[in-house]
Amino acid sequence: MWKGFGGQQSEPVRVPDAEAVAAKLAKVNVSDRERLQMLECFEKSDIAWFWATDAQNRLTYLSPKALAQFTTEREVIGEPLASVFKTVNVEHDETETKPISYMVSSRTSFVEQPVQLVNEAGSAGTGKWWELTGRAQFDKKQDFIGYRGIARDITDIYEEQLNASKLAEFDSLTGLANRHRMQRRLETTLNAYRIEKRSCALVMMDLDRFKQVNDTLGHPAGDELLRQVSQRLQSIAPGGAEIGRLGGDEFQLIIPDMDDRGRLGEIANRMIQMISQPYSVEGSRAIIGTSVGIAIAPYDGIMPAELVKAADLALYAAKGGGRGQFRFYSNDLKENADDRREIEEDLRDAIHAGELEVHYQPQVGTKDHKVRGFEALVRWNHPEHGPISPATFVPIAEDSNLIEELGALVLRQACKDAAQWPGDLRVSVNVSARQFLNEELPNLVEKALQESGLEPRQLELEITETVFMGDMGTTDAMFAQLKKLGVKLALDDFGTGFSSLSYLSSAPFDKIKIDQSFVRGCTDENHSNHAIITAIASLARALGMATTAEGVEALDELEIIAGLHVDMVQGFIFSRAMPQDALLEKLGSGELLFEPVGPAKHRAERRTLLRKIGVVHEDHHYTAMLRDLSRTGARIEGLLDVPVGTPLVLDLGEGQIVVCVVRRSQDATQGVEFETPLVSNGAGGLCTRHRVSPYMLAAAGMPLQALPKGHHLAAVAAAGGGSGPQSRPQFMQVDIGAGSSRAG
Ligand code: C2E
Ligand code: CA
Ligand code: CA
Repeated sequence: MWKGFGGQQSEPVRVPDAEAVAAKLAKVNVSDRERLQMLECFEKSDIAWFWATDAQNRLTYLSPKALAQFTTEREVIGEPLASVFKTVNVEHDETETKPISYMVSSRTSFVEQPVQLVNEAGSAGTGKWWELTGRAQFDKKQDFIGYRGIARDITDIYEEQLNASKLAEFDSLTGLANRHRMQRRLETTLNAYRIEKRSCALVMMDLDRFKQVNDTLGHPAGDELLRQVSQRLQSIAPGGAEIGRLGGDEFQLIIPDMDDRGRLGEIANRMIQMISQPYSVEGSRAIIGTSVGIAIAPYDGIMPAELVKAADLALYAAKGGGRGQFRFYSNDLKENADDRREIEEDLRDAIHAGELEVHYQPQVGTKDHKVRGFEALVRWNHPEHGPISPATFVPIAEDSNLIEELGALVLRQACKDAAQWPGDLRVSVNVSARQFLNEELPNLVEKALQESGLEPRQLELEITETVFMGDMGTTDAMFAQLKKLGVKLALDDFGTGFSSLSYLSSAPFDKIKIDQSFVRGCTDENHSNHAIITAIASLARALGMATTAEGVEALDELEIIAGLHVDMVQGFIFSRAMPQDALLEKLGSGELLFEPVGPAKHRAERRTLLRKIGVVHEDHHYTAMLRDLSRTGARIEGLLDVPVGTPLVLDLGEGQIVVCVVRRSQDATQGVEFETPLVSNGAGGLCTRHRVSPYMLAAAGMPLQALPKGHHLAAVAAAGGGSGPQSRPQFMQVDIGAGSSRAG
């Protein structure tokens, strides 16, 4: 049955209501009657529906079948047309469509206007699309009396079109593929490759400090920077790779047929280097950085969503490990991400509960061994997990907005403590780049000085090179404000960042701290670190800045550093960081000298790995402990008296399989040399270039899945059809507990 008209009808109109139809049908001649029947028939056929509005453009009529598309509770009759339908704009449609509300208020007729049905909440989220055609109607006096029109359901066609247009979509700013296109590409590639058993790398990249450029230099500058970034990316992406911008400052690379982690590491490093070079945008200089996360199908994910998640996790880990790094996905990252969340929560509580302490490490004159000052280093003794390194929790604090609070706490405490030190000793406080960008910093420093009564010249702020990322103008202004307070400024970790010397001459540093990575190896005159320290020391002297060498541990290092004219030394050779009471006790006796105590020579700390690995010899599987790992070899423990020259296969876990030969052997310990060297995993560790393919494991009867944790060599061996008679094992397996490690 007809639904009644809502509005008043001053004039008879061509669109019928129940009574009008009945009345008319009674009177009209045959041809009119036939026409009406045809209309009714047409309406019921669902080819198109009718609609009408009154002079206020409220919906007065809608075909019953059309009404059925709205929820039964909804009374759309009587509602303004513009609140029932919303104009939809096909993304990237050149011809901008005027909204339906505009057209009805200006009483223009329209043809085949795509609209979306608005749901009750008022948003266009019903997922139903219609096409409206409407003609404005006027009475004899030319007064507007409403619209009459037809409507058609185009949901299916529209969705198809939408997908088709998305397929061809590119990012209008950079010309790179957009998110939709990348998603499609990844889906089609992975679907096809799964069948063809091919690999594909997914590289996620996210700019560091892009937001600062955008905020300080403005959006047009930000846009220009993104264009330049995309150009640089295009110049270094390997052939066959598709580059996309997913939105904001997120980029993505799909590299088909790529599973070589050595090659991918090189690509990632090049990306990081290229993106970190200075930019010139709209007359300003800007420096940004980038972090890169990498996941490879089928190893880290079989399905697109799985692979994207893995790459995201790798990116997240890369950012967490300090900026400007890359990471491969590994199963551990999932656990790390959980750990990070836990640390973040606990840290928040620890700050409020006063669980954080500040300790002080002396900075000592290289020649006279007299202490000049101390660096404040935050310490956290977790009630359950014990001491947690600031190298772990400070980056987490930086990512979670806790750094402001943490930094302020250390600053206040350090000033308060230093005010009690005898003489003119200076305290150095670390200021993270995040704090440095906060305009409140000068106020914070001033307040800490006032409250403690410490002289401004006794306070030194240690800043890393990362503060030069972003807009130079803001950085310069902050330097000026801090200098005005009378505090000293030191450049921390010099040489570890992007090390652009250009800013050194312009920034007002009083001191350069030479990173401990340069101190290692400086005792070897042929080592480049020797030359680098010499260069930094003379550059600093030329610029009127003092130098401090960090991380000096051995007597021979101290001797070399003194010879290279470095003014001060901070390192375990003089002392580790100590609590305030221990410091007061030492200084209270008037004792300002620190005696160097340490090994004669620096011994590279053997990273004692206690990892269980699988070892295969012929068709026998053993387990061993991995004691040492380098690019080219390893030391393993667990097999008795393996002769030199024996070929072995090591299963390092997660599909990492290494062919090697025994080069040294004593009792249950062997030194092995790898056939193919390992590559960097981006996190300071090593990994194999290639891994056992999940396709191979699937062929061995395992389900096709991303590589799980653990060792898979046994499954691969089984796949080789090793069901025949096995020879006797040639070596005796020794049970090696973690405690039985002995220096060998
Ligand atoms: P940093 O600023 O470079 O601090 C020097 C680090 O080197 C300290 O590590 C110190 O204990 C260590 N160190 C000193 N001498 C030697 C040595 O001879 N050998 C070796 N191997 N290490 C030595 P710590 O205390 O673990 O701090 C690590 C990093 O955490 C610091 O590096 C700094 O970046 C950050 N951090 C520590 N406290 C704070 C803080 O209060 N605020 C901020 N923003 N960062 C902090
Ligand atoms: Ca420092
Ligand atoms: Ca440092």
